[in-house]
Amino acid sequence: MSEAPTRIHCTIDLEAPGRRVGRLEVRHSDNRHAYGIIPVPIACIGGGRGPTVLVTAGNHGDEHEGRIIARRLVRELDPAQVRGRLIVMPALNYPAVLEDSRVSPLDGGNMNRAYPGDAGGTPTFAIAHYVESVLLPRCDAALDLHSGGKVSEYLPCAFLVESGDRDLMSAKLDAVKAFGAPVTTVVSATADPRSLSGAADRHGVVSLATELGGAGTVDLDALAVGEAGTRRWLAHVGLLKQEVASPAAATRFLRTRDRNDFVVAPMDGLFEPRVRLGDRVRARDIAGIVHPVDDPEREGVEVRFSSAGVVVCRRVPARTLRGDYLFHVGEPVEEESLRVSKESS
Ligand SMILES: [Zn+2]
Repeated sequence: MSEAPTRIHCTIDLEAPGRRVGRLEVRHSDNRHAYGIIPVPIACIGGGRGPTVLVTAGNHGDEHEGRIIARRLVRELDPAQVRGRLIVMPALNYPAVLEDSRVSPLDGGNMNRAYPGDAGGTPTFAIAHYVESVLLPRCDAALDLHSGGKVSEYLPCAFLVESGDRDLMSAKLDAVKAFGAPVTTVVSATADPRSLSGAADRHGVVSLATELGGAGTVDLDALAVGEAGTRRWLAHVGLLKQEVASPAAATRFLRTRDRNDFVVAPMDGLFEPRVRLGDRVRARDIAGIVHPVDDPEREGVEVRFSSAGVVVCRRVPARTLRGDYLFHVGEPVEEESLRVSKESS
């Protein structure tokens, strides 16, 4: 595949063996950066024959567990342990990471809605373009480490975007089983082709994401799920020469089907939840109460689940506006039901 021109300069040679740490230099001009560059960290470890594997974190700048995992890989992985090469971007939307913000303060860009990107676009779109047109065509597998961010919290999980391609879907299922998180959230209807997962699908790259906790903090349990899973996944894709000591436990698949699986605030107010992450709920169960913030004599409004399932994600701030999402659920499904049959592929 021919590479589209990029205005980004990478300061390290991605083809040379060893360990190299540098930056993508994104040229940008605004009131702060007259002729400046945005230095987006990048590292490459390995060399020789084998797979090319991409690990990204900081796709959203307020999601922290993955950034710690990615940084640790750069420092701890010995090139002698590696077959092929590992490319790590621990702060993918670097301007957003600097601001501890989901989206970039420079252009309002949500990196996970920016693919295939734009070489001549604003920084978020230029970085997305580099990933899609320069990095992904070189890759065999990709792992994009997310958490819930400041406003959301997830059951620590692997995150699988379904594919209609039988072989790609089968490879993705094998990848999440190797990752071995206690829970794998599966999405189809809510998946977006502008995401990094969508970009990976376009290039036939077997991709996997995570949602490791959230709430703008670092959760110890979620971090442990992510650290162990990432090492097992690196062994699974053939990057590590040695097997990983901790075996994968069986993962539980929870599938979010459509908008009925999301609970949305019907009015502005103060939200009192009535369920916790991981709870099993039935359709019509009460999710919580939205209390008006003004007149104490006004009753709060009950909010109910539309569909049954397990609560996989919750909104964190109690203050809500009409239309804010409050929870979403996933339906427990068997692995076999996620496989694409020959007829439908
Ligand atoms: Zn995210």
